[in-house]
Amino acid sequence: MNILVINCGSSSLKFQLIDAQSEKLIAKGLCERIGIDGSRLVYTPAGGKKQITEAEMKDHTAAISLVLKALMDPETGAVKDLSEIGAVGHRIVHGGENFSKATLITEDVKKAIADCSDLAPLHNPANLIGIEACEALMPSVPMVAVFDTAFHQTMPEESYLYALPYHYYKDYRIRRYGFHGTSHEYVSSRAAAVLGKPIEELKIIVCHLGNGASISAVKYGKCVDTSMGLTPLEGLVMGTRSGDIDPAIVEFIANKEGKSVSEILRVLNKESGVYGVSDGFSSDFRDLEDAYEAGNENAKRAMEVFIHSVVKYIGAYTAEMNGVDAICFTAGVGENSPIIRDRILQHLTYMNITIDEVANHKRGEEIVISNPGPGPNVLVIPTNEELSIARQTYAIVAGEN
Ligand code: ADP
Repeated sequence: MNILVINCGSSSLKFQLIDAQSEKLIAKGLCERIGIDGSRLVYTPAGGKKQITEAEMKDHTAAISLVLKALMDPETGAVKDLSEIGAVGHRIVHGGENFSKATLITEDVKKAIADCSDLAPLHNPANLIGIEACEALMPSVPMVAVFDTAFHQTMPEESYLYALPYHYYKDYRIRRYGFHGTSHEYVSSRAAAVLGKPIEELKIIVCHLGNGASISAVKYGKCVDTSMGLTPLEGLVMGTRSGDIDPAIVEFIANKEGKSVSEILRVLNKESGVYGVSDGFSSDFRDLEDAYEAGNENAKRAMEVFIHSVVKYIGAYTAEMNGVDAICFTAGVGENSPIIRDRILQHLTYMNITIDEVANHKRGEEIVISNPGPGPNVLVIPTNEELSIARQTYAIVAGEN
């Protein structure tokens, strides 16, 4: 069965068509600038050439209609007709406390996703638009929602509660939710497979280090803590997001600069992180790494602050789990930067970790990069959120039949 995986943003839409049995990618692509002038579809069949089509997309339904047309193109398409798409898996950012696993989309599920929109105002409404556009064009194809927050729903109360008046939790559900859950789940389960041990026996820390970055503690297969919170702003230092700060800073800046709370939040989301600490040099870790190597002080400062935040969370989660068996690196930076991994691991010699330099410089494979010894294993596991969404979608749809 072929599964169409959709990741829908407010003006963009990424897709992959995956054969659920062989787990092979059939085609992928994205629609950019939906509802804006200059919209275009980028479509790449597996093993084929990238095609770019400039076409008006007044809304997401128009965009998905173009995606389906490309997938069914007699010359370059991947399927003959709609009957070859068995199900659609939608990435949904926020499932609140309602969803601890993927679920078949019904009217009630859509309502529950809409009810979480105040928790993810940029994402959930866009995700819903994607669902409705697919339903309009593929009315008989089952749809499944896979939530970024679901994997973290196993966190115990002491991890997810903020020390605020309790009625904020009861009345408004203010708590830690965590994000990147599909990636944390996929990477922790692959790490167990690579180590050849049951996940139920392992304490794993997953460092998802991309533009957005989060870290999680996965004890015996269940998430027990994660660094992102009510929103994806909390936790690690990121590309442009501050991560953890003293909340009193908000009022302090408001008084100094006459800014509103929402203006300050924009600064915390868009102008902070390594971009902010490097004094606006770059939010891109490749640029920072190159400049760091060349001795640029702004880049060095930003990298040190980033590395410090990762090291601090690894220590905290090791303590929370009373030990750690495996530390995994994933996402853009985690998968591709031997230098940043090395700099982080240099702080963990107290754990008896030593790095296998040859393994640390390999790319694109699931690999143990620490030397055998008494300490935890360190692994690089390329994440694959789309494959995980396809698997979860298939499991639900196959279970329904
Ligand atoms: P997101 O999905 O959150 O946008 P990604 O997981 O794609 O982010 O990661 C993007 C980040 O990964 C960018 O900052 C990019 O510079 C960084 N990155 C990619 N390749 C490398 C590399 N070889 N060395 C260092 N950083 C890299």
